[in-house]
Amino acid sequence: MFRRIPYPVNEQDQQQRARRVLQISGLSALGLLLAAVVADPRIVHYIVVGIGVLVVVAWFAWKQRLTIAVNLFLWAMTLFLSALAWLSEGVRDMALMAYPAVLIFSAILGGRSLFFPLLSFMILFATVVGFMTLYGFHEAYYYELGFRHIVFADVILAMTGFSAYILIRDQRRLMISLHEENRRVKENENLIGALANVDQLTGLANRRYLEAEFEHRFKICRRQKSCLAMLFFDLDNFKPVNDSLGHAAGDTLLRQMAERMNKLIGEDDVLCRFGGDEFLLLTAFNPGEEKRINQVAQALIDAATRPFFIMDTLIEVSASVGVAFAPQHGTSFSELCQHADLAMYQAKDDGRHIFRIYDDSMKRLSKEKLNMMASLRDALKNREFTVQYQPQIRLGNGSVCGAEALIRWRLGSGAFVSPADFIPLAESTGIIVDIGYWVLRESCIACAQWRSQGHQDMTVSVNLSYVQFRDGDLPGKVKTVLNETGLPPSALELELTESMLIGESVHVQRQMDELHQLGVRFAIDDFGTGYSNLGYLQRFNASRLKVDKSFVSDLGQSDRDRPLVRAIIQMADSLNMQVVAEGVEDELTLQQLQQMGCHEAQGYYWSPARVSQEFIHWIEEHNSAPRED
Ligand code: C2E
Ligand code: CA
Ligand code: CA
Repeated sequence: MFRRIPYPVNEQDQQQRARRVLQISGLSALGLLLAAVVADPRIVHYIVVGIGVLVVVAWFAWKQRLTIAVNLFLWAMTLFLSALAWLSEGVRDMALMAYPAVLIFSAILGGRSLFFPLLSFMILFATVVGFMTLYGFHEAYYYELGFRHIVFADVILAMTGFSAYILIRDQRRLMISLHEENRRVKENENLIGALANVDQLTGLANRRYLEAEFEHRFKICRRQKSCLAMLFFDLDNFKPVNDSLGHAAGDTLLRQMAERMNKLIGEDDVLCRFGGDEFLLLTAFNPGEEKRINQVAQALIDAATRPFFIMDTLIEVSASVGVAFAPQHGTSFSELCQHADLAMYQAKDDGRHIFRIYDDSMKRLSKEKLNMMASLRDALKNREFTVQYQPQIRLGNGSVCGAEALIRWRLGSGAFVSPADFIPLAESTGIIVDIGYWVLRESCIACAQWRSQGHQDMTVSVNLSYVQFRDGDLPGKVKTVLNETGLPPSALELELTESMLIGESVHVQRQMDELHQLGVRFAIDDFGTGYSNLGYLQRFNASRLKVDKSFVSDLGQSDRDRPLVRAIIQMADSLNMQVVAEGVEDELTLQQLQQMGCHEAQGYYWSPARVSQEFIHWIEEHNSAPRED
């Protein structure tokens, strides 16, 4: 009960206490003065000494020497009261009425080092004086009840009552303010707790909250024999938006995306922003209800596909989703996240803009990827890359109009790795910048050589990654390579995909304008798989449009893709662009393309990609063979 409370608690508190000691000692002095008037002459000089001590106490209090003032005051009062009792009626003396008041003051103003000694002294004094009187060692001096008793009683009651009142009132105020402070601290604590669980950008829950929620919900699911689904959502082409339009636009897009997603989820679902452009959705379902989860995943993807309108710019993105179920695919938060993440990467690998549900084969693949990433770092140094060239044919007369440069990676073991597998990895690590520069150089060297060997009109098309635009000096690098290799800019074409042009990227646009002024040409690769936005195409001065092979490969067999390919060709015509069909593998497809008025094509029907020497050899054979196509 008596924990040592250091006082003064603070400076303000100390001043208040000093003021109280000053008031109480002043009041006591006044009381004693009054008592002196009516007191027996035997004790008057004690009272005068008492008043003198109170003046000293008041002086210490005035000087803010609180400890001395309090100790002196309470000990002096105790001794003074005891002396009065000793001189008068002993243990029955009225002075002892003031003992409890002294104890209360000491408990409030002092510490236990003051309280307990005082209490002990008082008990001892009362006991000793009591026994001494009882056994005749001390003679009490009993007064006849008189006027002075009334004055003493009133003075003691008034002094103790008033002093106790102001001290306890202070105490109560302190309690109220402590209470208030406590409430504020609690409120802040709640606020901090809430903020710690919220993503500041989108207002959605954050990862921390989701993790806690997962633990909680997973227990419930276990009891109810239901399941949880974790949906890992990732925007496919957010980076170019951020890089080109700036972070403010990126943030706005994320906020709008969060709003859209929020509208799609159920009351009991938890949606959180996991970081960057990644979102996680946790939702419960009963076994057999997996179809509903598929629908949710698809709805999220569809929500991302609707255009965003930010800073007067129409932005189109897409999203990939990976799904993992608990307990089937994992029983801990981290395991489930990891598996949903792997499934999301699989969705990206499988062409983006789709969802995939986790299965164990994905884990094996991800290990392979890590290994690949490690060897990719040394591949350039170890000369494991080669560039091969695939001819592009003019459908009008069957002549070769150019070549697409395609990189090949041959591992030390002799096995080939498909660029479709390692280019995304090289992009994610940034190594693509060096690789891309190397491919550009090799291709320009090769093309300059073909031209010098009599194929003066040969051109080469080099695939570019959006990462190569990032440092902003692509035009400078291209210029250097052209200068060093002597290839005229008009003989070089750079292939870009639509996703790189998203958001009318100022950054990309500037570099493309520079390259365009240099005389370099552009082709839009994989056309039809992105958003096929006409506005982008016009703005970026592309001279060729390459119809993705997924629309071309079936043209011979089925008429499903014909309307689309026909529309692309017509559109390109009206924009004055050449159309190149990719992936022509058979005669029937070629005929279809010719009927539709397609200008150019490439594919295994003519030739796969070959190393430079073999490529030129192939051209010479092709040119000398009688034309049938
Ligand atoms: P892409 O630019 O669409 O390249 C065309 C792909 O189609 C090439 O695959 C080519 O070998 C293949 N192909 C050509 N004719 C046919 C055909 O008749 N049928 C079929 N089924 N396929 C055909 P490849 O070489 O595996 O390249 C895959 C992708 O990797 C390329 O797609 C391109 O996006 C990327 N890539 C290749 N080389 C580079 C490079 O040097 N830099 C960058 N950034 N990306 C590259
Ligand atoms: Ca290409
Ligand atoms: Ca392509």
